[in-house]
Amino acid sequence: MSNTNCPCGQGDYATCCEPLHLGKTQAQSAEQLMRSRYSAFVKHCIDYIVKTTAVGQQSQLDQAALAQWSTSNQWEKLEIISGNPRIDATHAMVEFKAYYFDGNAKQIHHEVSYFVKHQTAWYFIDPTVEAFPTMKQPCLCGSEKKFKHCCAAFIL
Ligand code: ZN
Repeated sequence: MSNTNCPCGQGDYATCCEPLHLGKTQAQSAEQLMRSRYSAFVKHCIDYIVKTTAVGQQSQLDQAALAQWSTSNQWEKLEIISGNPRIDATHAMVEFKAYYFDGNAKQIHHEVSYFVKHQTAWYFIDPTVEAFPTMKQPCLCGSEKKFKHCCAAFIL
């Protein structure tokens, strides 16, 4: 166990995001998942980024690009701007800014992210993957609803 500040800014890494990264516990909210994903970028835990993305999208992720993004920047801090923990029974929103230095200049990545709860866990809905289900196909989150009745509204 390390005894260092958690990258997400909420205490010791060992009691904050590390138990999530190690698979010992699950994020209890979309905001906690968002924080742990930011910390995972800082700690270069690409496996965690993959497994906390919507289950139907995981195989589409470019892990090399994610690893490159995580290591090519110096991450400074995370700021949660706003959120909606319950858009509906299984969806939530978190707006955040991630501050980093890209080697040349300070940058701010400002994003409104959407998350879906599937069974007991929260997942990030990645709007940047290339392929989505058609509207009538099963949703990418693993729910057995049609895509148009589930996550489509949050990415298209
Ligand atoms: Zn869905």
